[in-house]
Amino acid sequence: MTRVFSGVKPTGHLTLGNYLGALRRWAEVDQHQADALFCVVDLHALTVDHDPARVRRLSRQAATLLLASGLDPRRCTVFVQSHVDEHARLSYLLECVATDGEMRRMIQYKEKAAREQARGGSVRLSLLTYPVLMAADILAYGTDEVPVGDDQTQHVELARDLAVRFNHRYGHTFVVPKATSPKVAARVMNLQDPASKMGKSDDSGPGIVYLLDEPEVTRKKIMRAVTDSGQDVVHDREGRPGIANLLEILAACTGGDPEELAGGYASYGALKKDTAEAVVELLGPVRERHRELCADPGFVEGVLRAGAEKARAMARPTVDAAYRAIGL
Ligand code: ADP
Repeated sequence: MTRVFSGVKPTGHLTLGNYLGALRRWAEVDQHQADALFCVVDLHALTVDHDPARVRRLSRQAATLLLASGLDPRRCTVFVQSHVDEHARLSYLLECVATDGEMRRMIQYKEKAAREQARGGSVRLSLLTYPVLMAADILAYGTDEVPVGDDQTQHVELARDLAVRFNHRYGHTFVVPKATSPKVAARVMNLQDPASKMGKSDDSGPGIVYLLDEPEVTRKKIMRAVTDSGQDVVHDREGRPGIANLLEILAACTGGDPEELAGGYASYGALKKDTAEAVVELLGPVRERHRELCADPGFVEGVLRAGAEKARAMARPTVDAAYRAIGL
């Protein structure tokens, strides 16, 4: 059976982008078709300025939202990265295989480092090496496929390169993984700035729909999404990025096609209204299930404990083999 691994970073509240680009497919497709592991990658949340209590709170919230989105612990493994030591153990070995130049070429590193510097902050070394830890997350489990949004494909490529290089130098140890992307809404854009993705780490509010936003707040954010000054609704990512984003969100929610949907609208207002309603309807059951799970914290705790045990048992043989192969 295909082994699938993917994760979410507890650096902010989970967004509609996380849901449409990742969580929904994990729940609807991956956990049914594969031997799948889903992880709250809390070590990754330490790569930028962080508040310890907030990271702990957001990790728990993210894990709860994974379950609320439909991940079933009887079908897949749900756990928190720092509960399984094998990730950090393997990451160090992979740092001995990766190169400095390779790390500095990562687009996300360049973007995030520039942002930190613009804020006057210093760039943590872990921000540079973060893709190596991500490679360890993936390779520790003999992962075949990594379902991710477009923004993460470069990191999965690095995991592939490191697996191939390690295997070539030290003998076959790792499965070489590949990234898979959903067809629609692979990249949900910020409603106020459709040139940049709807990322949870911004925590900037108006352009981001959070999964736990009240329906009224979600409606308002979508109704106020920036558009151009035109009127006719066409799907054109380059020329009409705001409208294209709304069409893609609506298509992802309703299962339609963005180009075809465009033909059914005579005004931007009507498109926004339908998009808002589709998003509110889609997220309703997730919010409801999240409420139920919050009332039963012992259940979530138990799922995470069992998930970590299962994950550890899966990762240990591969990581031990890597230690032997590299000369330890
Ligand atoms: P974030 O960028 O929100 O911090 P993570 O790195 O935690 O996201 O990614 C969790 C998953 O959600 C990944 O598979 C990522 O590709 C996906 N994802 C994040 N933001 C978006 C977005 N705006 N559109 C589509 N998928 C996204």
